[in-house]
Amino acid sequence: MVDLQSQYQKIKETVDASIQEVLNSSAYINGPYVKEFQADLEKYLDVKHIIPCANGTDALQIAMMGLGLKPGDEVITADFTFAATVEVIGLLNLTPVLVDVEPDSFNIDIEALKKAITPKTKAIVPVHLFGQVANMEAILEIAKEHNLFVIEDNAQAIGANYTFKDGSKKKAGTIGNVGTTSFFPSKNLGCYGDGGAIFTNDDDLAHIIRGIVNHGMYKRYYHDVVGVNSRLDSVQAAVLKAKLPLLDEYCNARRNAARFYNNAFAANPNIITPTSSSCGQICATCDCHVFHQYTLQITNGKRDELHKHLLDNGIANAIYYPVPLHKQKAYEDERYNEDDFTVTNKLVQTVISLPMHTELDEEQLTFITKTINDFLS
Ligand SMILES: *Cc1c(COP(=O)(O)O)cnc(C)c1O
Repeated sequence: MVDLQSQYQKIKETVDASIQEVLNSSAYINGPYVKEFQADLEKYLDVKHIIPCANGTDALQIAMMGLGLKPGDEVITADFTFAATVEVIGLLNLTPVLVDVEPDSFNIDIEALKKAITPKTKAIVPVHLFGQVANMEAILEIAKEHNLFVIEDNAQAIGANYTFKDGSKKKAGTIGNVGTTSFFPSKNLGCYGDGGAIFTNDDDLAHIIRGIVNHGMYKRYYHDVVGVNSRLDSVQAAVLKAKLPLLDEYCNARRNAARFYNNAFAANPNIITPTSSSCGQICATCDCHVFHQYTLQITNGKRDELHKHLLDNGIANAIYYPVPLHKQKAYEDERYNEDDFTVTNKLVQTVISLPMHTELDEEQLTFITKTINDFLS
């Protein structure tokens, strides 16, 4: 699915030198590299505050703690996402409210979101799934009307741009009250271990969060709130600092591969290729999608056969995600009604994600698309 080794070989000299510098400096925690990467990322995303932390799941949890969400508060998020999003809602004893997604973008469905709002709703967590920004303009309007926080789970869409109706643009993750990301190795900006970050333009929230990531300390050994220990280590920061200047190039490489896939499958009646409802364009040509995953919908009922056929032919592929969250044992709830999840229930049976990374070449793409088209013709 990814080729981290070839990517590393191309940047080996820079990355190895940075890591060596950290080792020589012995500033393993909170060293200068962490501050430098933080500043570089603030500039790249055009956001006032980046708070680095240990991983993307912590980032979500800390963002929710920072906003002061309390047990019983309802938090609305998409039924079709990685479990981390809903896991932290549960861990904080908040009440997760899962809603259906749009059939084309796989992102939270705006009508379903509106329907799910109650007097207890305190926050919305849009997930920019597979690298495509959710319909933030509509989400911000709803949030404003109902006085809700917006926490963007941007683990899959770092570097994506969102274009508002007036033509202005913002980077994914910097649009709501707070955004979170993950630097897990296979993410679009990945380190060589675990890492994450929280983004916000809100000075007060940034201050609160900086204390929370560090045991609730605002002054050394004075603990004002219950915090956690969640740090980005210096070695990972050094890797990320070396890779950040390449992020736009990486996003373009992914979009080029997506464009190749889209063209190759355009005439196949059994395949729906990724498109976007939020911008109305084919996403391979627009910058609201950074293709963390390239995900097809197989409409003739042969998804599982295709999955096996590709594996037999040495082509990696994966089903993200095979079970809707509302049907997972940990998150089942009698409040949920199957009629409210028609899209997710269908997607789990039709989606398949193909190899998607920065190193895909034309020969590989030709082999993958030909194998699929031959099988599904
Ligand atoms: C990867 C991911 C996370 C969690 O990130 P970790 O760094 O693995 O903790 C959260 N949300 C989404 C949508 C993700 O894809």
